[in-house]
Amino acid sequence: MKINTAEFVISNSEVAKCPKDMLPEYAFIGRSNVGKSSLINMLTNNKHLAKTSARPGKTQLINHFLINKNWFLVDLPGYGYAKVSKKTKEVFQKFITDYFEKREQLVCAFILIDIRHEAQKIDLEFITYIGEIEIPLCLVFTKADKIGKVKADIAVADYRKKLLANNWEEMPPYFITSSSEGRGKEELLHYIDGINQE
Ligand code: GDP
Repeated sequence: MKINTAEFVISNSEVAKCPKDMLPEYAFIGRSNVGKSSLINMLTNNKHLAKTSARPGKTQLINHFLINKNWFLVDLPGYGYAKVSKKTKEVFQKFITDYFEKREQLVCAFILIDIRHEAQKIDLEFITYIGEIEIPLCLVFTKADKIGKVKADIAVADYRKKLLANNWEEMPPYFITSSSEGRGKEELLHYIDGINQE
């Protein structure tokens, strides 16, 4: 798929205010600093669409971008554990879980993982959560330019092993990407295009 237009539509802090259009929607999420903004900018051929920064912990908003006037790319904030109060048993921030549990237009969640780091508890928990609520998901390994192929294969194998040990029947679809090298872009867009054509 070629991206001809990518337009920022709206930022929200709650799912109820997200666009009402019934367009297919693809969400991108990961821990802060995972390289999400860089990946979105790579996918959309726009260096400034999503704001990149070397600092973690940016504003907590759900950002909708309209792509080719026929699907939404959604930039979600970095997930973290919610403060567990006595009243709630929420693990992740409520507006993030609300988004995944209520957004009907959502087709697939792309969960970003920094390929250099060993599988983190919070990432495995988030993947498990998305699986449990039966949202289709893909893993997107980022910053692959920072390590060699052998280490990248080891990182993917480690995830496979940990997910299978966590009751997953198979490794979810995954992509190995590098925003600085443009790697994984065609594969990811082709995957989205394939779903949109169904
Ligand atoms: P976000 O917080 O997840 O949106 O992450 P950013 O896209 O702002 O990236 C965080 C940091 O990682 C920045 O310093 C980026 O330049 C760097 N970064 C992001 N993607 C890549 C990549 O593919 N390769 C390399 N080498 N650095 C990257």
